[in-house]
Amino acid sequence: MDYSKYSVIVVGSGFFGSVIAERVASELKKEVLVIEKRNHIGGNCYSEVDPETGIEFHTYGTHIFHTSNVKVWDYIQKFTEFNNYYHQVLTTFKNKVYQMPINLETINQYYGLNLKPFEVESFLEKEKAKDRIDHPPRNFEEKAISLIGRPLYEAFIKGYTKKQWNKDPKELPEFILNRLPIRKNYNESYYYSRWQGIPKDGYGKIFERMLSNPLITTVLNTNYFDIKDQIPKDTILIYSGPIDQYFDYKFGKLEYRTLRFEKESHPYDDFQGTSVMNYAEETVPFTRIHEPRHLHPERTYGNTTLTIKEFSSLDDGSNPYYPINDKRNTDLVKVYRKEADALENVYISGRLGDYKYFDMHETIDAALTLFENGIREKLK
Ligand SMILES: Cc1cc2nc3c(=O)[nH]c(=O)nc-3n(C[C@H](O)[C@H](O)[C@H](O)COP(=O)(O)OP(=O)(O)OC[C@H]3O[C@@H](n4cnc5c(N)ncnc54)[C@H](O)[C@@H]3O)c2cc1C
Repeated sequence: MDYSKYSVIVVGSGFFGSVIAERVASELKKEVLVIEKRNHIGGNCYSEVDPETGIEFHTYGTHIFHTSNVKVWDYIQKFTEFNNYYHQVLTTFKNKVYQMPINLETINQYYGLNLKPFEVESFLEKEKAKDRIDHPPRNFEEKAISLIGRPLYEAFIKGYTKKQWNKDPKELPEFILNRLPIRKNYNESYYYSRWQGIPKDGYGKIFERMLSNPLITTVLNTNYFDIKDQIPKDTILIYSGPIDQYFDYKFGKLEYRTLRFEKESHPYDDFQGTSVMNYAEETVPFTRIHEPRHLHPERTYGNTTLTIKEFSSLDDGSNPYYPINDKRNTDLVKVYRKEADALENVYISGRLGDYKYFDMHETIDAALTLFENGIREKLK
């Protein structure tokens, strides 16, 4: 392959890479090469159709698009229409179903009370006072109890956190828990965003449309590290893979939490009545069950439904999902970032490049900003 004909080479076809490729091709009319190591475009937002049930599901975990950012909303609508799906999360604890994040209904149902919004704060203060400690919280558990009191922590946070991290919350640092959102009203919407929904014809179509410009060439099943020596040194490189891997892990490996999914089909048209059900108890080995048919209320699916159990564990970077923002990783990523910022024609970003959890709208915003404030000028 002749790599010298491309003004820009993009590593990774997730939202970060695809937005940059699309902008460079349609705005600057330059040739772009997108290199993707997987056998599909779209990164972690990819969706596919389950052959048994015909139900579309999100391969790397349920993805709900939501944003209040007008620039991102205007941009994404060039590539898809959204349905009217509205995200809500429920959690099962001791065979009862509660609203998440914790809201007034959760509190009242759990305690068997009928508190009014203006009574919640003083009620929780009394709950917290029962476990008041005379020093700043030293670990995750102490911090959580100081925020919401022991009973709600033990019911809704403790077991779930333990499953997510494979560690007792007492062994987790307090600073990974910034806040625990408690709603003193009955608002059941998971997001506060102005717009939300699922792409009507799936995430895959967004990426197909973004990369459909004839100036964009996409190659799948190609690892950048296998071909990097063939790329001319003055090519502009947009790299959205793991930042530590770019530098051959020379300062050490960044750690991630990873996920494993187990699919099952059931002979009814509805298994759990909602798209995502968390399981708070530690004794239930999975963290949540997804039922993807609920993501498309506008579609008619058959009488067999699909569920996907999600299991969470620690990962060493080989199957990265969520960055772990503890001190070691936060310090380490700063060292890599310093190296990255000193590179001449290379831009390392996206969720793996920045080692940050970004929602899709934040990823798109970051890519649009990099294009406007860096790439456009560079390619003039
Ligand atoms: C479980 C989960 C659920 C989520 N749910 C939501 C949600 O509901 N709503 C929301 O807004 N956001 C959600 N997100 C966030 C969303 O997935 C990210 O914002 C988005 O995927 C980031 O896009 P990206 O392009 O930076 O990274 P990615 O989508 O990860 O794309 C990076 C791409 O680079 C490729 N790549 C990496 N290294 C190489 C290499 N060496 N050579 C070639 N290719 C390479 C990868 O294969 C991948 O395709 C969720 C994330 C996770 C993990």
